[in-house]
Amino acid sequence: MRRKLLAANWKMYKTPAEAQAFCREFLRVMEGFGADVVLCPPALCIPATVEATRGSHIRVGAQNVHWDKEGAFTGELSTGMLLAAGCTHVIIGHSERRQYFGETDSTVNKRLEAALEAGLTPICCVGEMLEERKAGLTDEVLRRQCTVAFRGISGEKAAKLTVAYEPVWAIGTGHTATPEMAQEAHLTIRAEAAKALGQQVADDLRILYGGSVKPENAHALMAQPDIDGALVGGASLDPKSFAAICKAGA
Ligand code: PEP
Repeated sequence: MRRKLLAANWKMYKTPAEAQAFCREFLRVMEGFGADVVLCPPALCIPATVEATRGSHIRVGAQNVHWDKEGAFTGELSTGMLLAAGCTHVIIGHSERRQYFGETDSTVNKRLEAALEAGLTPICCVGEMLEERKAGLTDEVLRRQCTVAFRGISGEKAAKLTVAYEPVWAIGTGHTATPEMAQEAHLTIRAEAAKALGQQVADDLRILYGGSVKPENAHALMAQPDIDGALVGGASLDPKSFAAICKAGA
C-alpha cells in the first residue's frame, strides 16, 4: 500500500517571512492530520521553512540540485548544501527548468543519481507538451523521459525515488488532466520503472500528479489507483487551499 505524498512547489514566490507565515497557518489548519507533506520553497526560504516546521511531520525540499559535490558553478546548490540546510526532498527536471533553463533528460539523470546517492528523495518530473499529446506521442515522450532519467540507477538505490507526472499543458493553466488521462500516464511511467528498476521498486514507487490541482479536483485525481499524491504549484501558495488538497488526498 503506497502512502499519498502531497508536495508544494512554491516556484519563485515568497520571502522568508512569508514562508514562515504560511507555515504557522498551515500547521494550525493541519493540526491532528497526519499526511506525508513536503514544502519546496525557493532556496533562500529553505532555512526559514525548516525552522518554522521543526518538530512537525512536514518535510522541506528544494526545487533543483547540481550533480557535483562542489565547484565553480555560480548559482548552483549541491546535495550536501541541501542536506545541511535540512532538506529531505528535491524536485528534479520540472518542466519550467526544461523549458526556460536548458534542462535535458540527461541532466535530469545526473541530478537524480546525485540526489539518490546523497540520500535525498528526488521528485523527478516528466510530462508531455500539448503538441505531443495532440500528435498521440504522450506514451512515447514519457517512456523516453523515464528511460533516460532512470539510466544507470540500480533498483537498490531507487528506493527513495518519487516521480511526478506533470503534463506541461496542465501546469498553471487551469486545464487539469482528467483522472483517467492521468491514470493512464501513471501506468506508462510505472511500466517504465519496472523495466529499468525492477518490479518491486515499480510497485512501491510513488507517482504524483501535477498540473492545476485544486481542492475541487484533488480527491477525484488521487482516488485513481496509480496516483499516489500531488505536486501542487499555484494552489499550494495559500495554506488553507494546500491543506484542503492534503486532506482530500489522504
Ligand atoms: C507545478 O509547478 O509543479 C504545478 C503543478 O503547478 P500548478 O499546480 O500551478 O499547475
